Amino acid sequence: MKNIRNFCIIAHIDHGKSTLADRLLEATNTLSQRELQAQVLDNMDLEREKGITIKSHAIQMEYLYQGEKYVLNLIDTPGHVDFSYEVSRAIASCEGALLIVDATQGIQAQTISNLYLALGHDLEIIPVINKIDMEAAMVDEVKDQIVDLLGCKPEEILAASGKTGVGVEEILQAIVERIPAPTGKEDEPLQALIFDSVFNSFRGIIAYFRIFNGSIRKGDKVKFFNTGSEYDADEIGVLKLKMSPRNELKTGDVGYIISGIKTSFDVKVGDTITHVDNPCKEAIAGFEDVKPMVFAGLYPVESDQYEDLRASLEKLQLNDASLTYEPESSLALGFGFRCGFLGLLHMEIIQERLYREFDMDVITTVPNVSYKVHTSKGEVIDVHNPSGLPEPTMIDVIEEPYIMAQIITQSDYLGTVMKLCIDKRGTLKNQVFITQDRVEVNFEMPLAEIVFDFYDKLKSISRGYASFDYHQTGYKPSKLAKLDILLNGEPVDALSSLIYHEHAYDFGRKMCEKLKELIPRQQFDIAIQAAIGAKIIARETVKAVRKDVTAKCYGGDISRKRKLLEKQKKGKKRMRQVGNVEVPQEAFLAVLKME
Ligand code: GDP
Ligand code: MG
Repeated sequence: MKNIRNFCIIAHIDHGKSTLADRLLEATNTLSQRELQAQVLDNMDLEREKGITIKSHAIQMEYLYQGEKYVLNLIDTPGHVDFSYEVSRAIASCEGALLIVDATQGIQAQTISNLYLALGHDLEIIPVINKIDMEAAMVDEVKDQIVDLLGCKPEEILAASGKTGVGVEEILQAIVERIPAPTGKEDEPLQALIFDSVFNSFRGIIAYFRIFNGSIRKGDKVKFFNTGSEYDADEIGVLKLKMSPRNELKTGDVGYIISGIKTSFDVKVGDTITHVDNPCKEAIAGFEDVKPMVFAGLYPVESDQYEDLRASLEKLQLNDASLTYEPESSLALGFGFRCGFLGLLHMEIIQERLYREFDMDVITTVPNVSYKVHTSKGEVIDVHNPSGLPEPTMIDVIEEPYIMAQIITQSDYLGTVMKLCIDKRGTLKNQVFITQDRVEVNFEMPLAEIVFDFYDKLKSISRGYASFDYHQTGYKPSKLAKLDILLNGEPVDALSSLIYHEHAYDFGRKMCEKLKELIPRQQFDIAIQAAIGAKIIARETVKAVRKDVTAKCYGGDISRKRKLLEKQKKGKKRMRQVGNVEVPQEAFLAVLKME
């Protein structure tokens, strides 16, 4: 145990976490240059494109330090707030963390929010300034920022480049010298924390864990504390580039277990593994059942693909338990599913995976957060869909989820950033100058306000100089209005939304304007109306056209005429018939395109 070091890397996105991790693997000969295929730790295609680590993994390295062999377990953490619970479990499995800061960017919002998580678990922090090879590197300035943030000595800060490999050896030495070895008792009952799991179509679920007390042997009967289910440890082992089976793993070790578990539901990240016969007294603290926070309807573009969509969602859920779905039907869109996601990025990823892995083209409706509705009968119900809201007379109070936003910006943009947050119903909670010209502000805001376009707006008003992160803080009562959209007098359920009452008029007007742009002219006038209850609050009209597309095909050329009709039919596939109006697919996401 004294020669084990368990650590993770925390960094703001693009500060070089994956690149540096690859260098560590290379320097410890965990993999050869040849095996180093782009970035080993980000092994999903999608992930590489989006440049973020979606699923965390762990990898074991061996390092010779002053003639002694050390085992270094690097636990990778996902880099996006949608997956912050997984980050917290990965951090809980370590004794130390490399804090990577890009020398050209300095400290950013995610640097700080992840650092707080790490400090919350008493991790030893090794600060590293990365990308020092770049011309724009401001090493001294960033050093000052880190000293201010951590209260460390300037000499404790390492400088490195994931690109050239400079400083990598020093990082490895610091991991051995500064990060404490795991503690814990080998003769106590088994207590291991699950920090991640992946689905494998041949082997079922592979759960990754860190042992805090006791040991586990292949074949042991084990129990998962929070779910209560029992399994045989069919295979246990450590994670090298591939899985490497072992007969026994002990206190301090990081490893994997395969135990015939079929779906991601049966393994919960944050759960504790112990023995059936000699269980530990309590579970490792911090277990949470993560709940989806953002909901949207997913409908097949071709309505006869409903069953295919169900089958695809079922498969996706096998390896992603945080995705939820239940059947829903919409007058406008037919049969589909109400899906729950951890956040907007998660939603995008699922949509993309449906397309790439299952060839499923879906229409997504306006996303919304989950609301707690207190009814006049004293019940509390979770509402995931504006059309599922009880009658107004039955509603006592509606509560909505709130978050604490952490924003770091250059002082020049502080005014505009503050204004944006206040427009989004934010309340300023804290303001700290990190350096003379960089300031951190904390705003408490409704999650619904950041779901749509907050981050894009923030980036554009700060010319990219603001960074943003958030965590949830709970529910608060709110005054919300249900806004309906009517096309030629027919309400379109898939376009309903719940809006803060003071924003409803403005929102309704913009929604009508946007829909007017998106809905093509047809053979008759189309009235687009926004309504709250029976009250119409905005209206636009799409004027009729009379367009005979076959008119330009003179007389006898039947084949050409047929081609044209064929083409027209194809174009229609992406349209939905709502009453007598044809609505294009993108209109259902109009809200995301509004100014
Ligand atoms: P991550 O999002 O923190 O995992 O960041 P990546 O490792 O994916 O790196 C983000 C970008 O910075 C990539 O284009 C890398 O090639 C580049 N990069 C990473 N480290 C360095 C470095 O030390 N020097 C230079 N010049 N570029 C780097
Ligand atoms: Mg990465």
